[in-house]
Amino acid sequence: MQIHVIAPAPTGYALVLHGGAGGRVEELALDTKGRYTEGLSEAYRAGEAVLADGGGALDAVCVTVEHLENNPLFNSGRGAALTASGEAELDASVMTGEGHAGAVAASRYARNPVHLARKVMEESKHVFLVAPSRELLAGWGLEIVDPEYFITPGRQRQLKNVLAQRLAPPAHGTVGAAAVDMHGHVAAATSTGGSVGQSLGRVGDSPIIGAGTYAREGVVAISCTGEGEAFIQGVVAHDISARMRYLNSTLAEAIIATMAEELDARAASGGIIAVSADGGLVVAHNSPAIFAAYRDGDQMVTLT
Ligand code: ASP
Repeated sequence: MQIHVIAPAPTGYALVLHGGAGGRVEELALDTKGRYTEGLSEAYRAGEAVLADGGGALDAVCVTVEHLENNPLFNSGRGAALTASGEAELDASVMTGEGHAGAVAASRYARNPVHLARKVMEESKHVFLVAPSRELLAGWGLEIVDPEYFITPGRQRQLKNVLAQRLAPPAHGTVGAAAVDMHGHVAAATSTGGSVGQSLGRVGDSPIIGAGTYAREGVVAISCTGEGEAFIQGVVAHDISARMRYLNSTLAEAIIATMAEELDARAASGGIIAVSADGGLVVAHNSPAIFAAYRDGDQMVTLT
């Protein structure tokens, strides 16, 4: 396992994002390393600008994820991993430290599934919607696209290679962000196309509150990526928060223990990003690589 632990910044706010954890080679086969770095930095700056302006953690994570969803290199929104039948079925979730949450699975029409998840949280009395209709999206004023918008030639090639067994199915991708704002509020968001070649209708951990996404005021905000089934079985994001609350573990201690007990024990790989309420950050992964961005002092760091 590799872990990066960053002390709280004097600014009073903090943001960390990921663009998926996996084998570098699988994902980089889609493009060059430089473009990934650029995409991560651009999304990071967008979210950080919200926080620097005194904006809220929820706005910051949604803007960050929106940028990653719009970037075809990452497995979410346009450029998402495709199902075995070549379709894009998108999942996303958001959660605030106050305990509000919204999630969507098998989304096909919202240009930005993260905004749809937020609408579920803010505009409905539900937490989790599956395959919401165009009409519902239109009523919420969301930008609607045709399902083809999400499908890129790179992902079609990747799917073909996976189905022909020329490429091991990359179990990884996904984007997410976690933030604490100047007012001490935390929030997290996660968005994905799931795993390459997955069955139609398969849902991973990303839209499942407590598994792939979790936030709790005064404690932590977390977004996960990796083999979704194991993250669901281990209720990974909530387990980390529970260790901090009940055992008084630090964020890093909690992540190390949860990864060992819930992921390593299942021989599952993935990555976790998190921000504690005091602004400390952790990026951890037991996969060969993770795409991530955060600030360490004056320096913006990107991991590819
Ligand atoms: N966790 C996601 C899922 O299982 C995939 C990923 O993070 O790459 O759908």
